Amino acid sequence: MANVTPVTSLRFAATVLALLTLLPFARPASAVPTGARPLSGGRLIEGRCPAAHPRCIAFTFDDGPDAFSTPRLLDLLDRHHVRATFFVVGHRIDGDEPHHRVQRGLLREIVRRGHLIGNHTYHHVVLGNLRPQQIDEEIDRTDALIAHATGGRRTGLFRAPFGMLSAPRSLQAVDARRLTPAYWMIDTHDWEARTSEQVVTRFRQELLAHPNGGVVLMHDTRPWSVSAFPMIMGVIARRNADLVAHGQAPYEVLNLDAFVVPRGTEPLRGEPGQRRQRSGAAHAATR
Ligand SMILES: [Zn+2]
Repeated sequence: MANVTPVTSLRFAATVLALLTLLPFARPASAVPTGARPLSGGRLIEGRCPAAHPRCIAFTFDDGPDAFSTPRLLDLLDRHHVRATFFVVGHRIDGDEPHHRVQRGLLREIVRRGHLIGNHTYHHVVLGNLRPQQIDEEIDRTDALIAHATGGRRTGLFRAPFGMLSAPRSLQAVDARRLTPAYWMIDTHDWEARTSEQVVTRFRQELLAHPNGGVVLMHDTRPWSVSAFPMIMGVIARRNADLVAHGQAPYEVLNLDAFVVPRGTEPLRGEPGQRRQRSGAAHAATR
């Protein structure tokens, strides 16, 4: 019979515990990533489907959280078993007004329900118009607020307001923090819509233009966007039934962490944002 001393049995127990933490089912609910370190550094989310997924969709919701519309969206996402990414604006979770407190609570709820969080700056302004120190503040202040609201979590995901990250000093700030810039493929233009039907129509048109799908840009600050979400899921379900009937791969709904690719030396996208910026100041206030 083996001579098992208390020390060896303790070592054995420690080894078993260490092995158990490697198993996915042993992960505590709080270990759901918020787009933390594994997503950051020399990487990019361009917006098109990863190679392993011929057709895909990932939902991103920008500019929140919003005390009124985000809670309803969270329930709808749960009902459809969808995990999404929220690019949050710092000033919405800073301050002592009742809605600030609610919105900080929403950030915790977003994480608790398994969604990802990304940094969308503090004031939501064009970074390229700022001095380097102001750019740093926009990012760092929001990062600290996210960490404070979510019990110390940091996000490695970053989306520049209006998708404009082409100014060298903006990119430098993102690179220095090893953040992963996140773009999109399907723009629902919900910032210029006023009804959920308009959002869904635009989604349909965009899906025709980008038949493989990709990252979808929406805003949880808009009630009509929240109402459009289940309708968009209906569009995807009907399209999938059609695709499967014709022996083709259906759209898979993924989250943003599936889209990370290594970043090459090519310049980052910035032009779409610049075009939008030129097309009218009213647009600039929303994305
Ligand atoms: Zn935005």
